[in-house]
Amino acid sequence: MKNIMLIVLDGLGDRPNQILSGKTALQAAFRPNLNHLIREGQGGLMTPIAPGIRAGSDTSHLSLLGYDPEKFYSGRGPFEAMGLGLEVRPGDVAFRANFGTTDNNGVVTDRRAGRSAEGTSLLAKSLNMEIDGVRFFVREGVEHRAALVMRSQGLSDKITDSDPHETGKPVKRVMPVSPEGEFTADVLNRYLDAARKILMDHEANKNRRKSGKPVANELLLRGPGKAPDLMDFSEMHGMKGAVVAGIPMITGIGGLLGMHTLKPRGSTGTLDSDFTSKLLAAADLTKKYDYVLVNVKATDVAGHDGDAIAKRDAIERIDRAIGEMMENVDQDLVIAVTGDHATPCSLKDHSGDPVPVLFRSRGALTDRSQFFDEFSASAGMWRIRSIDVMNIVKEMADRSEKYGA
Ligand code: ZN
Ligand code: ZN
Repeated sequence: MKNIMLIVLDGLGDRPNQILSGKTALQAAFRPNLNHLIREGQGGLMTPIAPGIRAGSDTSHLSLLGYDPEKFYSGRGPFEAMGLGLEVRPGDVAFRANFGTTDNNGVVTDRRAGRSAEGTSLLAKSLNMEIDGVRFFVREGVEHRAALVMRSQGLSDKITDSDPHETGKPVKRVMPVSPEGEFTADVLNRYLDAARKILMDHEANKNRRKSGKPVANELLLRGPGKAPDLMDFSEMHGMKGAVVAGIPMITGIGGLLGMHTLKPRGSTGTLDSDFTSKLLAAADLTKKYDYVLVNVKATDVAGHDGDAIAKRDAIERIDRAIGEMMENVDQDLVIAVTGDHATPCSLKDHSGDPVPVLFRSRGALTDRSQFFDEFSASAGMWRIRSIDVMNIVKEMADRSEKYGA
């Protein structure tokens, strides 16, 4: 049996860029190591989730890890909360949240509290509490954003938002949408009443008033989701797994699956991340773990910025780091490289385009693949979905069981 490394270049896929003479960032990049890997191995196109679906990073990573999001995904709340660094455990109910501004009558005057993060870290801390055995955890995000996690036995996400989603409307009472949501709605309303009192008198809000910013006196909640109780990765796949990532949402997913998680020093989840130390840390883990997923976020960040040059440059640096890493891994390691979805610079958002994929395993079949990019990938043998990636790498690593007699 061989060990496996899956390198996920987040938002890797691209479309033609004018500034790169009509090339994708990947096509334009000097990438000798990626090209070498695909020549030694197999290539093709990978469709995240299903054709035409614009995948999020959460659903796509679940799928790459062999967990079909159609069965296991329960809404963005828990994954957004993880993304802000909150721990999320199975059974927790999590929300996306905004710090908002209301007037004396509880009518929302600004759903985003001036888009200002001033003091929100202190405000969030002051909102961690326990009511009736239910623990509440709040973490601030960028600008006005935040997340809330509720933890207790028997919580339900069958409840409505408190966010009226419009200014000029009063904050809504949370209502159950089915009987199982009754307790959760009730305790949450009591929590929001308590939170309102704390926010109103909070020093951070006095400071916001002084500096002319709208007060952040309401936590507006939306998109409740119950964190799924997923089968542990080791049980699901019979492998010891690890996740290496610079961003908390991806390590959070690993944590939810009971995998070892690592955010290497110098890994920032941005364009200035230290790709070499990240990939070397991942290479090191392949000595102890059967399966290691590494997420590199920089490609997605550049895509969202619409910066094709930055995306190309990031790929060149990642390629160099892959070259260094290859000198430090067991020659029998099965290596796969793909994206979790495309983030075309021209779109500044995720698209449903397929992304190139490569698999390299000593002694396995090879194909006509010569270059690792969106166009050349069609010379390769594979047309797959993200959910297939795990089966393919397991098979290459002699870890799959026979289907049938
Ligand atoms: Zn992504
Ligand atoms: Zn993205």
